[in-house]
Amino acid sequence: MIVILQPHVTPDSAEYRQLMNYLANKPNLRTRMHQEIGTRQTLTEIYLIGDTAALDKAEIESQPGVERVVRVSEEYRILGRHRDDRRPTGFDYNGVLFSQDNLNVFAGLCAVDTPEHVEQMLKALKAQGQACTRMGAYKPRTNPYSFQGHGQACLPWVFELAGKYGIKVIAMEITHDSHLDEIREALQKTGNPTGVMLQIGTRNTQNFELLKIVGRQREFPVLLKRGFGITLEESLNAAEYLASEGNSRIVFGLRGMKTNMGDPHRNFVDFAHVPVIKRLTRMPVCIDPSHSVGTRERAPDGLLDVMHVTAQGVVAGANMILVDFHPHPAKALVDGPQALTLDELPWFLEDVAIARTAYDQRRLLAERNLRPPHP
Ligand code: PEP
Ligand code: MN
Repeated sequence: MIVILQPHVTPDSAEYRQLMNYLANKPNLRTRMHQEIGTRQTLTEIYLIGDTAALDKAEIESQPGVERVVRVSEEYRILGRHRDDRRPTGFDYNGVLFSQDNLNVFAGLCAVDTPEHVEQMLKALKAQGQACTRMGAYKPRTNPYSFQGHGQACLPWVFELAGKYGIKVIAMEITHDSHLDEIREALQKTGNPTGVMLQIGTRNTQNFELLKIVGRQREFPVLLKRGFGITLEESLNAAEYLASEGNSRIVFGLRGMKTNMGDPHRNFVDFAHVPVIKRLTRMPVCIDPSHSVGTRERAPDGLLDVMHVTAQGVVAGANMILVDFHPHPAKALVDGPQALTLDELPWFLEDVAIARTAYDQRRLLAERNLRPPHP
């Protein structure tokens, strides 16, 4: 059960203390306070754990300072959508809104290589009015002899260049908790010129210790990729790990499933699950067409497969796109074969806008059809 407090009720208020005394008298009940710190207001919630079946929802709702009470099912307690649950579906970070109702594009390098390539990428993004990018510094590689990313060494200049080109959020994968400290330190040393969304990759979706550590910090939001060989339920539970530790600023990423059924794509594209995740949880949903498709193959209609699957995800209501670009794909140190080129960026963004318009129109059509007919 979740008790959502009125916006002005904070842990130092009289109403809060009164409510906690009232709850302390209930048998076999533990409480856990959780705060959603937004730009406009802070939302305080109290999670009730234990013998909640015996509790009277209306009685709790009548206590001073309580806005409403949500009875949660066992599944995805914090992130799930429960009955009568009108909690927000998103969050603001560094001036960028992430929600189930909007769309952000994170085009960028799979892996940071040279300052020249990073700068060319960022310049192209700025020219297109983009405020987000992807830049991998720590790369989890299948082959131990492959390039592992520049790691900590590249962070200062990547952050400074991002600030120079007005980038507000960089999606950056971490594979170890020390990377979190390195990112925090580099941001501080460079004067926080940009923000970072910590990415947990498909190989680490069930790295529970990493999830707990990343969940305990509230500074950075998290992009959690779906595990490529586990069920959707298992991946959503991984997201709940982050939330249960205190950080529910999470975007859930689809990146295709590992099975030969998807051949000739690198992975089997799973973007049909965009609306499913939005139905089950309050997380914004990201699609990663690059790691799903894995090639620059083009259909007879002239569109790259990467563009086709992007449009499919966007038409289904995706909220974020993580996509590989590179100024010279042949020189990329990681995933060059799937990267789009900088002169394809305006085309890609226009194609995304067309798909988003189609989604908006589909939403309006659904609204019109669901509205009860006039008597
Ligand atoms: C990536 O986004 O660079 C990446 C390695 O993705 P995934 O974890 O989905 O393979
Ligand atoms: Mn990659």
